[in-house]
Amino acid sequence: MRKNIVAGNWKMNKNLQEGIALAKELNEVLTADKPNCDVIICTPFIHLASVTPIVDKNIIGVGAENCADKVSGAYTGEVSAEMVASTGAQYVILGHSERRAYYHETVEILTEKVKLALANNLKPIFCIGEVLEEREANKQNEVVEAQLASVFSLSAEDFGKVILAYEPVWAIGTGKTATPEQAEEIHAHIRSLVAAKYGQEVAENTSILYGGSCKPSNAKELFAKPDVDGGLIGGAALKAADFKGIIDAFK
Ligand code: PEP
Repeated sequence: MRKNIVAGNWKMNKNLQEGIALAKELNEVLTADKPNCDVIICTPFIHLASVTPIVDKNIIGVGAENCADKVSGAYTGEVSAEMVASTGAQYVILGHSERRAYYHETVEILTEKVKLALANNLKPIFCIGEVLEEREANKQNEVVEAQLASVFSLSAEDFGKVILAYEPVWAIGTGKTATPEQAEEIHAHIRSLVAAKYGQEVAENTSILYGGSCKPSNAKELFAKPDVDGGLIGGAALKAADFKGIIDAFK
């Protein structure tokens, strides 16, 4: 059966010392009161090598927020999937709407990134979601279907390692959350697309996270929906108490 997961996306926040302090605090809090779901923190690249040894691997997984679409070589400023994996990280967020919008990451680029992540034993947390105009035009289903092409080129075995995150762009960092009904409707649609591509068993085993202004006050209602298997959390992942409040939605 699929896993319930709460994953944090720190984005470009926290200097190294602050990041280490947050990881230590989270580790303490979650060691004292064990979560009922998988917990992952995705940090800026420079934090990874410091954060992976200080968290209990059995309680907190660590991931990057991106990786390069090339194996290695003359790509100044890029960080490869192999480099990420060498820090001990086990996950990587790919396809976040900020990367798609500000860094022009296309379906083709993301297809390469997903392949390289998997080739280096990193599990992709693959983000999909529509912008406000697409939602207003009722195009969200076709938008996510087109975005899924980056992971639908994988074998069923490789797809089984992918975590999906539905993040409506209009809800990210805006304080405006999708209603549990809106989330359930599109999560169920996404699962039906996975079933059509890989079969019912793979679809039932795929974790689909919701992201977009998820907070301790709304997490329980969202995660109670049958096709919402947890959350990808931005702002509320930057404080241990808030992140723990969301994790506790599974208690
Ligand atoms: C995100 O960017 O992945 C996200 C969900 O952000 P926030 O929780 O701040 O809306």
